[in-house]
Amino acid sequence: MTISTVVKRHLETGTSSVRHLLSTRDVTRHDVTRWMARAEELRVMSAKDRQTILAGSVVAAIFYEPSTRTRLSFESAVLRLGGRVISAENALEHSSAKKGERLEDVFRVLGCYADAIVIRHHENDAMAMAAPQSPVPIINAGAGSGEHPTQALLDVYTIWRELGQVDGLEICIMGDLRYGRTVHSLLQLLTKYRNVSVTLLHPASLGLPEEMMQALRSRGLSIQTTQDLTSALSRADIVYQTRIQTERLSCIDEALGTEKFHLTSASLSVMKPSARILHPLPRVDEIHPEVDDDPRAAYFRQVENGLYMRMAILEDMVRR
Ligand code: ASP
Repeated sequence: MTISTVVKRHLETGTSSVRHLLSTRDVTRHDVTRWMARAEELRVMSAKDRQTILAGSVVAAIFYEPSTRTRLSFESAVLRLGGRVISAENALEHSSAKKGERLEDVFRVLGCYADAIVIRHHENDAMAMAAPQSPVPIINAGAGSGEHPTQALLDVYTIWRELGQVDGLEICIMGDLRYGRTVHSLLQLLTKYRNVSVTLLHPASLGLPEEMMQALRSRGLSIQTTQDLTSALSRADIVYQTRIQTERLSCIDEALGTEKFHLTSASLSVMKPSARILHPLPRVDEIHPEVDDDPRAAYFRQVENGLYMRMAILEDMVRR
């Protein structure tokens, strides 16, 4: 069966295999392949045809933490698919959270107004605990320092678009691996691919939580840590850079030793000509602007891919 037949059959049945998208543990490799294939179709579809896909649907976007890309790309994706968005930005201050409302109740209420809820929350587990009470699908748009599954899905989509495969790649992941939720979701997603080898580089205090490292290894991911930046960069097919999550540090000393892992034009000179640099953005100073014009810098293409990946996810999950 071809990939587009898989997409077609799936759309015809009208139900998603993913009820709530809270973690990359919730998705199979088949889901990812299906969404990537659909993202490719949505990319070239006429604006008029796309407008029919979510016509009549309403999606609620409720963000308890700051966001630029994620919120606006979800909103843009809904609008381009012909749906409508109702949103609460800065919901910690401007919603009934201020009055102590529980997330379970928020989901029940928003479920009366919308056909899916896209939510960013400051706690790692709150939305997963409340999701069973929701009458409509919940899409995690970032949960504390826990997970950010749609970012990881668009990261994998970008890897596949740039290099034509995910299996067998050497992937170097750098920066804040402790609090970086995109890294946590991406690593989990990579366990679903074959022969991926991951090298981690991080300041001393910002390594991957130990239980996460063990869980990834037990699911067969080849994963090692090094301080040797030059050697890691020279072997990598993908360099995934991240910013230090300064808003989550318990003290500023946790960020000591960060500059060693910045990407500059000198880093480019040791990387393979076929390698690619990804970053979930926002970038602060961990990738110098001089890197941006190199064709291996894929982070702005990654942003565009995110729009199509989120369209594919919404089309699949929004209740109609
Ligand atoms: N935008 C991503 C997130 O919300 C990455 C970051 O903020 O560093 O997790």
